[in-house]
Amino acid sequence: MSKAETLYRLQTIDLEIDERSRRLKEVKAILEGNEELQQVRQALQDGEKKLSRQRAKLRDQELEMRSLAHKIASVEERLYGGHIKNPKELASRQEEVQYLKRRKGGLEDQVLEMMIEVEDSETSVTEQRERLARLEAEWQETQAQLSVEQSELAIRLSQLKAKRAKLQKTIEAHDLALYEDLRQRRYGQAVALLEGELCQSCRVTLPSRKAQQARQGKELALCSNCERILYMER
Ligand SMILES: [Zn+2]
Repeated sequence: MSKAETLYRLQTIDLEIDERSRRLKEVKAILEGNEELQQVRQALQDGEKKLSRQRAKLRDQELEMRSLAHKIASVEERLYGGHIKNPKELASRQEEVQYLKRRKGGLEDQVLEMMIEVEDSETSVTEQRERLARLEAEWQETQAQLSVEQSELAIRLSQLKAKRAKLQKTIEAHDLALYEDLRQRRYGQAVALLEGELCQSCRVTLPSRKAQQARQGKELALCSNCERILYMER
């Protein structure tokens, strides 16, 4: 195997390692937190709290209404039972009944309004619960798939790294240094394929002598334009 071919094989492994590592990172990040799910959970919690506050308020208002109705009934009983002889007291009792009835009327409006609010909140909480259930089911499926992908990626990566370590031992130190340096400077791609006299990475036609040198494969030949190591597939 020529030096260029060995480095080309090394690059094929490195590019796959790059790609799989990137995906593994992505998968880990997705598995760590599902923001949408957390937001919907929080919204549901807030909605449920609001609903229970509204229900409590409605219960209080209904209780107050019932106690007002009792009060009105008892004052009216006294009023129409003929027990009160004093006209002054009669007038004051009548006034009291009027006042209590006004209060009860106002409270009835409030109760109706609160009933509508409670109903709206119940509808919205039900919708949020359904949405959360849907999202949770979807998430479970996604999570299962991603966990499988995660372990497959980890296995493949360890295979690739073992393969890389083995291949690296056959490469001379200064060739490897050149390769690593080019990979850093050339977006991960240190070796370029040569087709005829054309560098496939930068699409520049090379001088014939340079192309010849790359074809022979005895020494490393670098592209005169992009500086990548040239490799011609046989
Ligand atoms: Zn080039």
